[in-house]
Amino acid sequence: MAETAPEEAKQSFQYQAEVGRLLDIVANALYSEKEIFLRELISNAADACDRLRYKALTDKDLIAGDAEFAIELSFDKSAKTLTISDNGIGMDRQDLIDNLGTIARSGTSAFMNELTGDAKKDVNLIGQFGVGFYSAFMVADKVSVLTRRAGSEDAWLWISDGRGEFTIEEAVRDGRGTTITMTLKDDAEEYLDESRLSHIVKTYSDHIPFPIRLTGGEEAKQLNEGSALWTRSKSDVTEDQYKEFYHHVAHAFDDPWATLHFRAEGVIEYAGLVYIPTMRPFDLFHPDRKSKLKLYVKRVFITEDCEDLVPSWLRFLRGVIDSEDLPLNVSREMLQNNPVVSKIRKGLTKRVIGELSKKAENDAEAYATFWEAFGPVLKEGLYEGTDQRDEILKLARFKSTTRDGWVSLADYVAAMKPGQDKIFYISGEDEAAARRSPQLEGFAAKGVEVLFMSDAVDEFWLPSVGSFEEKDFQSVTRGGADLSKIDGDAEDKESDDKDEKKDDDQSPSIDALVSVVRTALGDAVKDVRTSHRLTSSPCCLVADENAMDMNLERMLKKHQQLDQVSARILELNPKHPLIKALSEKAIDGVDDAAFLLLDQARIMEGEPLPDPAAFAKRMTEVMTRALG
Ligand code: ADP
Ligand code: MG
Repeated sequence: MAETAPEEAKQSFQYQAEVGRLLDIVANALYSEKEIFLRELISNAADACDRLRYKALTDKDLIAGDAEFAIELSFDKSAKTLTISDNGIGMDRQDLIDNLGTIARSGTSAFMNELTGDAKKDVNLIGQFGVGFYSAFMVADKVSVLTRRAGSEDAWLWISDGRGEFTIEEAVRDGRGTTITMTLKDDAEEYLDESRLSHIVKTYSDHIPFPIRLTGGEEAKQLNEGSALWTRSKSDVTEDQYKEFYHHVAHAFDDPWATLHFRAEGVIEYAGLVYIPTMRPFDLFHPDRKSKLKLYVKRVFITEDCEDLVPSWLRFLRGVIDSEDLPLNVSREMLQNNPVVSKIRKGLTKRVIGELSKKAENDAEAYATFWEAFGPVLKEGLYEGTDQRDEILKLARFKSTTRDGWVSLADYVAAMKPGQDKIFYISGEDEAAARRSPQLEGFAAKGVEVLFMSDAVDEFWLPSVGSFEEKDFQSVTRGGADLSKIDGDAEDKESDDKDEKKDDDQSPSIDALVSVVRTALGDAVKDVRTSHRLTSSPCCLVADENAMDMNLERMLKKHQQLDQVSARILELNPKHPLIKALSEKAIDGVDDAAFLLLDQARIMEGEPLPDPAAFAKRMTEVMTRALG
């Protein structure tokens, strides 16, 4: 950068490294839908008009003498140039450096992480990640941007061939706004054609609420409808138009999973065109948990940063809310705790829940795709949006030990065994690992269904929700598991009864074993007891009834919220040959075995051993003895 030269003179700048990489992808994209560059540039022009219209609400001078916003296209066949011009907010010199030299809006790393190397997929990411401007280089060898910021006298000319560098110099422009001129590549001359341009605008940009005109002919011709899509009646909007608007408003390239187009008329009046995406937006779990719904007032864009408009557990919603009741000059501060906004939020929440319930009922398969993408976010509403708790519980779906696919809590309750009064679950972020847990054995033997709680958020709502239809949620890794009251599947019952008899015969020696193991392990465990939840494993760990769930403890420890996990209860399986043999053995000399059982149970939990060397030593001794 030549910082010493005067600003008016032409200066060269290097693109940010990521932009350079992006431009390589863009320039080499053998992509059939290159035409989307026009959508991106028109979208930027419309944003620029929207932004100035908002500013002008408080500073009318900014649009004095030129109050009608418009976007103009023109082309010159002999020069092979295509030009798009707007009278929006424009850019100053620093804006040019910041906006057209870096990837600003959504963060470069997020974009770069998503790149697949597959040109077709990657080019789709361009719009999604706020790098739309650079798509001009798909069709152009050279792009120039002549721009003048509203309220300023100075104009600037930005020029680049999309290869590593751009230049900026002082220039002259009549009035505010931005004019982008592209010198088209040889294989992009098709865009120097009225009907081609008109078709592209109709396809992608018909909903833009400013006139898009083609000039240069005898008279300017408006190519788009020019009215905001949400103001039209449903019957006047096609499926494709809804989709295109979604792509525009959400910066997304999937198809909407659901489209809600509505008008609320009553105490307060507002229109909404709100989408539920199919795919997770990449920033869904960003810590700020902000929604991106756009707030308009009487067709004027106000902000996409109105926190109270949507509960954060519906932050995946995209689209527009247009209020008739808020004042046009509403400030962002006024939007906080605003009664109109909170009424809109209530109404919108109700609508979305209604739509989800309908889909859940009528099309389980489609609902499953929604749940997979957004279930973990919706579940945040179970402890935040207490008003909707019952509805969200009905919408929640879970994987289970006895069925494929997703199970609702109502499904679960309907399949409960006689004598069962709890909703059993096991938590663990790794569902496959959870499936192998020894604590599930007794439940599996009786055919008792256990739900998997595999999202981090489950640990938060479960304690606060507590029950569903008066059935308590009960972790199978916590507290006692008295399965004897539950009538299991027929075949298992008999063997159960048999086992119980045998158990009775054995009780004295197992009780003795339990007490020596307890003494041997001392503080390493909270307690030792016989187990009713095991069939094939000799032992397992469980948490005390009043203690935190083991999985939650592990999670907190991982995130350094907890220094140490609490001592567990070691349960021994009285039916297991190893435990039987140990109980029949002389009562002393089980110290090694006791620690080996505990370490084994820890390993099955996926927990690190506190003393691996001691474990190895004991293991070696026991094996040596066995072989000796
Ligand atoms: P995005 O539109 O998602 O922010 P783009 O790459 O399309 O990303 O544009 C980058 C930025 O350049 C915009 O955010 C805006 O600040 C600026 N910009 C682009 N085109 C215009 C325009 N016609 N008028 C004013 N600013 C513009
Ligand atoms: Mg853009």
